Amino acid sequence: MATTIVIHRGTNQIGGCVTEIKTENHRIFVDFGEELPGTESDSHELKIDGLNYVGKKCDGVFFTHYHGDHVGMFQTIQKEVPLYMGECSRQIMMTIYDTIKDNGALEILRDNNRMHLIVEKVTIPCGDIKVTPFSVDHSAYDAYMFLIETPDLTILHTGDYRNHGYRGDKLLDMIRCYITKYGNRKIDVLITEGTMMNRQMENVMTELEMQKTAFHYFKENRYIFLLCSSTNLDSLWSFYKAAEMNGMRFYSNGYVYKQIKNFKKYAGKKANYLYKFKSVYQVNWNYYLNKVKMTQEEYMREKGFIILIKEGEQYKKWIERFEDLKPKIIYSMWEGYLDPKIKAFNGELAEFLKPFTPDQLYKLHTSGHATTKCIEKVISAINPCKAIIPIHTENKAGFEKLNISEKLKQRIIYLSDGEKYVA
Ligand SMILES: [Zn+2]
Ligand SMILES: [Zn+2]
Repeated sequence: MATTIVIHRGTNQIGGCVTEIKTENHRIFVDFGEELPGTESDSHELKIDGLNYVGKKCDGVFFTHYHGDHVGMFQTIQKEVPLYMGECSRQIMMTIYDTIKDNGALEILRDNNRMHLIVEKVTIPCGDIKVTPFSVDHSAYDAYMFLIETPDLTILHTGDYRNHGYRGDKLLDMIRCYITKYGNRKIDVLITEGTMMNRQMENVMTELEMQKTAFHYFKENRYIFLLCSSTNLDSLWSFYKAAEMNGMRFYSNGYVYKQIKNFKKYAGKKANYLYKFKSVYQVNWNYYLNKVKMTQEEYMREKGFIILIKEGEQYKKWIERFEDLKPKIIYSMWEGYLDPKIKAFNGELAEFLKPFTPDQLYKLHTSGHATTKCIEKVISAINPCKAIIPIHTENKAGFEKLNISEKLKQRIIYLSDGEKYVA
């Protein structure tokens, strides 16, 4: 039997991703994600033949990264199935589930017999399917593309990626050097994300540009409350760096503090000049700083601050505490959460931001996903000989407009959820 690819989920919306790849005797999955909050189709109704039945063998589920739309349903996978993810991803997830006290999830993540940690460029055999991870830049750290080789097919599954974060400039060299080996390894099928396809005209700034913009903004505005994902390492680093260069400290709640410590440990150690968080502190207003002989709050008032917050009563009070200083709010998340016309609309967040005037609220964000330009470069560099399968997109038609060769365009295959591609 020839290799079969099934995109169970993710062909027609930006939401949960589930891809199955099988040969006659073996099969693996890439990602097992949950739909974005607000998506109509109920995530728990996903029925994948065999995966939840002990009788049918699955050789492993490989997670590209820790975002919920890729890992969200990991707890539903049957116990016998080995799980594969990066070491930092596992730690980030453990901190999340430890905070919300989900012991079921923790038990799985801590189970070393079941959880297998992947290492970049180290191939994992799963019967006659071989999987090799390659580290990529994304708004989640520890994200991977997977090269999947079966006896008759070579597939590249990109997961989520981009080339405008701090490590993005390495993407094309990595593809040429390690994935296509300068044309010596032919990729048959490319499965690529297309999240940004319906935002083709959007001007996307790099993380470094965002850092510079924040740096200049902090010169004038020294009391900052930041809304940003606590697991978006690159953006946290952009704002941290901008604050540090302005002599401002970075503060957060205990949970975010732990996540930053995780990033420091795993990512900071690997990079030469990135992710070296030095002055991050937990909010504790009355904590007495012996060196400077003042409380944390007094120090904040004197030197300025950036405090990571999220929506909620507690954080509203934090902002009110500094009302006299006219603090600014930076919104560094996807605009879609604030748009009532979009399924992912977050009413609580929109309500939280409502009282702030345009003068108080500054939107400064960059996407975690590949721009169309980046996708074009990746498709051309991979030059797949059989098929290009778009996933994680609401606008498959956008692929038609890409600036790639006609020959490559003809290889684009549009699958619906659950539909098969047989080589
Ligand atoms: Zn992601
Ligand atoms: Zn995603």
